[in-house]
Amino acid sequence: MQLQRYQIPAQKINHIFISHLHGDHYLGLMGLLFSMHLQKRTSDLHLHSISGLDEIILLQLKHSKSVLNYNIIHHPFDPGQSALLWEDEVLSVETIPLIHKIPCAGFLFREKIKPRRIDKEKLQDGMMLQHIAALKTGKDILDDSGNTIYKNEDFTLPPRPSLSYAFCSDTAYNEKAIEQLNGVDLLYHEATFMEEEKDKAKETLHSTASEAAHIAKTASVKQLAIGHFSARYKDLDLLLQEARNIFPHTSLAIEGETFELEA
Ligand SMILES: [Zn+2]
Repeated sequence: MQLQRYQIPAQKINHIFISHLHGDHYLGLMGLLFSMHLQKRTSDLHLHSISGLDEIILLQLKHSKSVLNYNIIHHPFDPGQSALLWEDEVLSVETIPLIHKIPCAGFLFREKIKPRRIDKEKLQDGMMLQHIAALKTGKDILDDSGNTIYKNEDFTLPPRPSLSYAFCSDTAYNEKAIEQLNGVDLLYHEATFMEEEKDKAKETLHSTASEAAHIAKTASVKQLAIGHFSARYKDLDLLLQEARNIFPHTSLAIEGETFELEA
């Protein structure tokens, strides 16, 4: 439902990452899987989660006597250690071990180094399209005898910066994650409670807004988005203020909001 509201086409989703198996983090999944089926999806769907989710899904399919049009490929991971979950030519995804009541991991999405960009002002008459395509890949252009015709750096600009996003779902304050989070462009970190409820945060293995901000500051991230607020807080600006006192570049992660990443 929310995907529809924000006009995100479900058919374009090929990978789903589930941090842990508390209901608020996966109970909507079955509805999504069925709507993909109804929309006649046929391409594989990759589900990355702690093991157990495969069983939950199978059981629901079994008892509703349903067979999906597409394959679900389960990729169970061990949340206890950081591991590379997925990579292709543009992106890598690794797990971030977190501390919670049940096994839980966050995810770190990193863009790979991008290709160099053609400097259009430097292009010369007579350059062939295949030369331009090869320059984009970082190569020099040689003639048949191996002499350089076009030197790559004369015609290209450095690649645009590669951006990174870390998603730290439910977790107690976790200093161990700081090294892995170092310098990310955007950190989402839960901030279920305020400092005045620190005991409650400790007991339920959640974080306070100050703790989230402290992680962001120590890891020198570029911006922080906080979320997963306890329903007790009617005025979310109080949480935002608490975090901003420690890490000014903080925003509230409100559903449907988008974040501009600065290169
Ligand atoms: Zn949880």
